[in-house]
Amino acid sequence: RIMVPRPDLKGRLGVLKVHTRRVPLSTDVELEVIARGTPGMTGADLENLVNEAALFAARLNKEKVELSDFEQAKDKVFMGPERKSMIMSEQEKRNTAVHEAGHALVGRMLPGCDPVHKVTIIPRGQALGLTWSLPKEDRINLYKKKLMDQLCMSLGGRLAEELMFGEMSSGAANDIEQASKLARAMVCRWGMSEKLGPLAFGSGDGEVFLGRDFASKPDYSEETAKSIDAEVRGIVMGAYERAKKILVEHMESLKRIAEALVEYETIDAADLEILIQGGQLTRAKPAPRVVAPPKEEKKNRRILDALDGIPKMEPEKA
Ligand code: ZN
Repeated sequence: RIMVPRPDLKGRLGVLKVHTRRVPLSTDVELEVIARGTPGMTGADLENLVNEAALFAARLNKEKVELSDFEQAKDKVFMGPERKSMIMSEQEKRNTAVHEAGHALVGRMLPGCDPVHKVTIIPRGQALGLTWSLPKEDRINLYKKKLMDQLCMSLGGRLAEELMFGEMSSGAANDIEQASKLARAMVCRWGMSEKLGPLAFGSGDGEVFLGRDFASKPDYSEETAKSIDAEVRGIVMGAYERAKKILVEHMESLKRIAEALVEYETIDAADLEILIQGGQLTRAKPAPRVVAPPKEEKKNRRILDALDGIPKMEPEKA
């Protein structure tokens, strides 16, 4: 697999300029601002972003693509399309709210985590909910302290469920897998274990991400393998305890965030701040989500026709 480097700010701005060349943009759209708000996006993501924004605008029969269309498109490109047809039971909804609240709270409390941008319990793709953090700037290197904090955040979801319900669900499988892989990469690939030192165990790119490579002979002894396992376990358990401490200490905030998620379904960084400071959200509760998009012929052809290349994603069918 070939890794294409992700474009930096200047690169993203360039890609956006190319793809919006023929798209009518509202004056509130500043490409520089959008480029700044999309670190980590690939060129293909950005192309997709422009297409999706245009589709949103066309669906609402707008003359021009507005900033709000880009915001919606960003959610969709980053988090996958909403699964509007999926009905969650009340219990499932509560469980997801608590789980995401756990991620968000730990993420907010640890300096090494990227700022939480949005938290949602609207199902998207395979996920029932999502906590979305956005880096403040382009990231090139990964640092141990940051990685340790991120580990805590990824364990925060499962932990919140445990603390609130005294129960574990299978919903955290992905988090747990991510955490284990990250810890293993820290030990085996990036030489971040004090005990094992700055050595690489296992060879090749990405191999450690796939777990043990059974096909080829490992370049370390059985004894080292045991030490690696112990180190990986130690790192994950350390993160687990740290995350637990945060959640126990801020239990009231955790409950408020979870409640707000059940009521509002999606909260942003400002909402999160209010809830952590002990406040309640006062904005209007979301209206029932609109299900039926206008029919194809009603769409504003001008915007659709202007799209460079054919939009690769069909407008979502409700
Ligand atoms: Zn999770």
